[in-house]
Amino acid sequence: MTALVTSKVRTTIELKGLSLEELEELVALCGEPSYRGRQLFQWIYARGCRRFEEMTDLPAALRATLVEEASIGALTCLDKQVSSDGTRKYLFGCADGRKIETVLIPDEGRLTACLSIQVGCALACAFCLTGMMGFVRHLHAGEIVDQVLALREELSPGERIGNLVLMGMGEPLHNYDATVKALTILLHPLGLAYPPRRVTLSTVGLVPEIKRLAASGLDVNLAVSLHAATDELRDRLVPINRRYPLKELMAALRAYPLPSRRRITFEYTLMEGVNDRPEDARELARLLRGLRCKVNLLPLNEAPAIPFRRPSRHRVDAFQQSLKSAGIFATIRESRGWDISAACGMLAINDGQKSLDTAACLA
Ligand code: SAH
Repeated sequence: MTALVTSKVRTTIELKGLSLEELEELVALCGEPSYRGRQLFQWIYARGCRRFEEMTDLPAALRATLVEEASIGALTCLDKQVSSDGTRKYLFGCADGRKIETVLIPDEGRLTACLSIQVGCALACAFCLTGMMGFVRHLHAGEIVDQVLALREELSPGERIGNLVLMGMGEPLHNYDATVKALTILLHPLGLAYPPRRVTLSTVGLVPEIKRLAASGLDVNLAVSLHAATDELRDRLVPINRRYPLKELMAALRAYPLPSRRRITFEYTLMEGVNDRPEDARELARLLRGLRCKVNLLPLNEAPAIPFRRPSRHRVDAFQQSLKSAGIFATIRESRGWDISAACGMLAINDGQKSLDTAACLA
């Protein structure tokens, strides 16, 4: 068991974040058959239960052992802000005092949860506030899953979280193992049972991990933050491009085993005079030709610390039109929750959480 945490006075095994197999192993150590592990899995993830006493279909002896030896932690909701467009941003506290933000976006009667994967981020994209915050630490699988469980507690009657997007703070593929483990729990029929088509992992383009994900057989939507169609420009906007240039990234994506009728999404944040010119659209169309994909255009969310400007609506429409006439399907993502700093790239914790050296984190 890897997820050992220290509770108030002594060490207990933290169960949130354990996979079905690990819970089955754990109950086996208590001399119980593996279906008890399945029951525990359902209590923790499907029902969001945190008290062993309430797990009434488990034998009393097992419950007593779990009370002594195990715990089920949870994020603490520290703050909630509501945007004029209905977007809600939650500030959650982790067991070690670190803080993360999670966003809930209402859209046509459905709620999308935007989950964080790390405290901060090591990738330092030039226009992203999370990137400017630097990297503090990875989240554990349990902390990723718990964002959904904690949000569920906050819902009004009749509300449901229909979609999950791994687009909050951090880079999912930099925290590969915890991300895959969390997704497995979120998708598992006995866990949170999300259909794969309702779950999207967004990556800046870590090529070895894209290949690993492809080989893992994990079925979720893949979004790639592209932002530029030439290495010269992408090197400046997305520094990791210097390590994994476009040629390698596109080759990995062309080889990605896409289920039929599924497409890769490319996110492209539009910045005036930087990557929104007619020739940028032409380069982008050329780069994506023949790939089953769509482009999601995000007009830049501005902030004082970001040295770029949002293009006019006219320029955004022209860029979209240019892609369309080249046969590339492109949508414009409306910015949500900007007034509460919940929009793309705006998530950042400014309470002096110490960040680590970015280069060292990725080494
Ligand atoms: N690290 C992952 C997950 C973050 S998703 C990734 O890069 O894909 C957040 C999305 O918002 C990314 O596409 C990111 O590039 C984009 N983004 C960052 N800052 C932004 C800003 N200021 N305005 C608009 N989009 C931004």
